Amino acid sequence: MNVNHSATPPLAPELIEQFRKIVGERHAITDAADIEAYVTEERNLFHGRSPLVLRPGSTAEVAAICKLASEHKIALVPQGGNTGLVGGQTPHNGEVVVSLRRLDKIREIDTASNTMTCEAGVVLQIAQQKAAEMNRLFPLSLGAEGSCTIGGNLSTNAGGTAALAYGVAREMALGLEVVLADGRVLNVLSKLKKDNTGYNLHNLFIGAEGTLGIITAATLKLFPKPRSIETAFVGLKSPEAALKLLAIAQSEAANALTSFELLSEMAVDFSIRHGIDVRDPLAQKHAWYLLMELSSPGDDARTPLETILGLAMEDEIVDDAVIAANLTQRAGFWKLRDEMSSAQKPEGGSIKHDISVPVATVPAFIAEANEAVVKLIPGARPVPFGHLGDGNLHYNVSQPIGANTADYLARWHEMNAVVFAIVLRMGGSISAEHGIGVLKRDELPDVKDKTAIELMRQLKAMLDPLGIMNPGKVL
Ligand code: FAD
Repeated sequence: MNVNHSATPPLAPELIEQFRKIVGERHAITDAADIEAYVTEERNLFHGRSPLVLRPGSTAEVAAICKLASEHKIALVPQGGNTGLVGGQTPHNGEVVVSLRRLDKIREIDTASNTMTCEAGVVLQIAQQKAAEMNRLFPLSLGAEGSCTIGGNLSTNAGGTAALAYGVAREMALGLEVVLADGRVLNVLSKLKKDNTGYNLHNLFIGAEGTLGIITAATLKLFPKPRSIETAFVGLKSPEAALKLLAIAQSEAANALTSFELLSEMAVDFSIRHGIDVRDPLAQKHAWYLLMELSSPGDDARTPLETILGLAMEDEIVDDAVIAANLTQRAGFWKLRDEMSSAQKPEGGSIKHDISVPVATVPAFIAEANEAVVKLIPGARPVPFGHLGDGNLHYNVSQPIGANTADYLARWHEMNAVVFAIVLRMGGSISAEHGIGVLKRDELPDVKDKTAIELMRQLKAMLDPLGIMNPGKVL
């Protein structure tokens, strides 16, 4: 996907040299072959270009980069794990990439305060593991957790599979350290749950997608590590049945219900056919599936899970279900879910919508959107799946069998318009968890409150008056 915005002037060799002095010879990359990994993303949907990738190793180095960049009006694109799905981390127009991956220290784990202070480049899975070693849980969890970073998670306000019980990334951050566009360091790292000393500044940078400053560290909340986790894979007839099961699960298990993932038959079928080592947990095919998980800080999540499934079977809400007998089987259920995005690739072009609607309207949304996309492109194959408990669906639509992929993808925004119209009518959001980046930038002014957009522009102008922080993204 090509993205055009105003041209960035070429970088003078003397300036490259000054940047090089800040990070050291090895960490200023100018070789085109080495830069490639920073300007493309996994799905190859976006491809950018950059004359220079900087890999700072400390907050002071990030601050020096920003100061120099602002003195010379050089545009910067912050990058973490490069797993973002909306083109926010890609230098579309020759900007300098600031990769935060070397800022990978866990500065402190405080088990009395239940906090972890870590640098922005810490990979999410490492943060989870370090918390677990201290008998705590850092609950943010998503398919890209082996490579995405805490800085990227906060900058996109990532959601993931445990948001139902623990909230999204924003709710897990108590404070941040941020380098501003002019090189000043804002230190609002804090372990405090209660701190009413004026404006909540750290929240401005969460979900800002690197357009207001560069996050260099965060203090994150930790939770008790569950002693018992039970996972079920369920077959049922419809999203309506899934909603009924959600109601039973929430009244029987309350906060112990940590994941509730709705999967369409086609999404499961693609994952089994194209995923690596993915198996169908159930003996027969079903129109819809659910992956549900209960986690309990006490000893027993099994009894409530069996009660929930028993009640649902009595009421004929559930057609079949299997509870993971061991950790390997549980990992197998999650593998099926985690392979779902990449398993769509071999089926050709896929037009994506990361939307949310009020939970109660999910079944109506699916029915209306399925009808609308097939009317727009006969033979298009809806592959909905996602976090039903949060009203968040990855409403992806694969190309008709045998269609030309480029022709299909050329209709990306046309299909978005049709789906987003339904989302907005239902009071939903066109970006539930992936952000705006460049992918949805042009749609944003049409769907967001005018005053909100005006305030966003004013904040951007105040914090980044030269427009060097991830230009052309979000706004
Ligand atoms: P990047 O991709 O490097 O950057 C993302 C954005 O954040 C860019 O705008 C970038 O400029 C900015 N940024 C990065 N680091 C910083 C920093 N330190 N300071 C300021 N700005 C910064 N997302 C979900 O929310 N839920 C999911 O369930 C989910 N599942 C996924 C599954 C797969 C297989 C993949 C590939 C992606 C998935 N994502 C999901 C999207 C993605 O993983 C998240 O958006 C993630 O939070 C991005 O982290 P990152 O470190 O890779 O950031």
